[in-house]
Amino acid sequence: MKLTIAWLYPDLMSTYGDRGNIIVLTKRCQWRGIDVGVKEITLETSVSELKKSDLIFMGGAQDRQQKLAGTDFLKHKGPFVKEMVEKGIPALFVCAAYQFVGHYYKPYQGDPIPGAGIFDLYTEHPSDQAKRLIGNVVAEVISSKKTIVGFENHGGRTYLGKNLAPFAKVIKGFGNNGEDGYEGAVYKNAIGSYFHGPLLPKNPHVADWLIAKALEEKYGKKIKLVESDDTLEWHAHRFAL
Ligand code: GLN
Repeated sequence: MKLTIAWLYPDLMSTYGDRGNIIVLTKRCQWRGIDVGVKEITLETSVSELKKSDLIFMGGAQDRQQKLAGTDFLKHKGPFVKEMVEKGIPALFVCAAYQFVGHYYKPYQGDPIPGAGIFDLYTEHPSDQAKRLIGNVVAEVISSKKTIVGFENHGGRTYLGKNLAPFAKVIKGFGNNGEDGYEGAVYKNAIGSYFHGPLLPKNPHVADWLIAKALEEKYGKKIKLVESDDTLEWHAHRFAL
């Protein structure tokens, strides 16, 4: 079996070790003998490269980089990512990327950055006085009841529309907005999350869920991944807990 991962804006959107998510997806495929390739999709890359991929990843960014990538995403890549997510292609959008897939992100200064409207959500950074939501964070994934651990740092507060399901319930930390007790969102096979850290190395169950979904979509059959020895990953997870 073969998978191609699209890594959107690796040069602009990859804070707090987000590239670790790509390393983990790649390694966990290779350990199972899955032939895996990563396509870096930058401002210059044509969308035809994106369209050939089976799994999408986009990481976080500071507001300046977010604006640069945001213009390109809205005009060029976003509509194709929307089409792919609608078809069931799995995706992981972290922090600024999670904000991008909503309707808009309003920074505390300047105009709102319109999003691709893939997820029914919006994000606002209320003012320069509003404290950033920073720190180590723990949540429980709603569908599996398994914990996820990570680190968050965002000024934006994200609010989900009523038809969009949250990804997890916050146990410690802030999550989407520090008010409603939820973290991230899930739409079809796509996950949006505020967890950096990065997310996947310390939460191997999320990595495997994405890989299995990508293979299921591509090969049209139920996939049970070969077990891997995750002793170290779970040790790190428990330590963070
Ligand atoms: N610029 C966004 C915010 O502060 C995203 C930050 C990030 O990706 N860590 O809300």
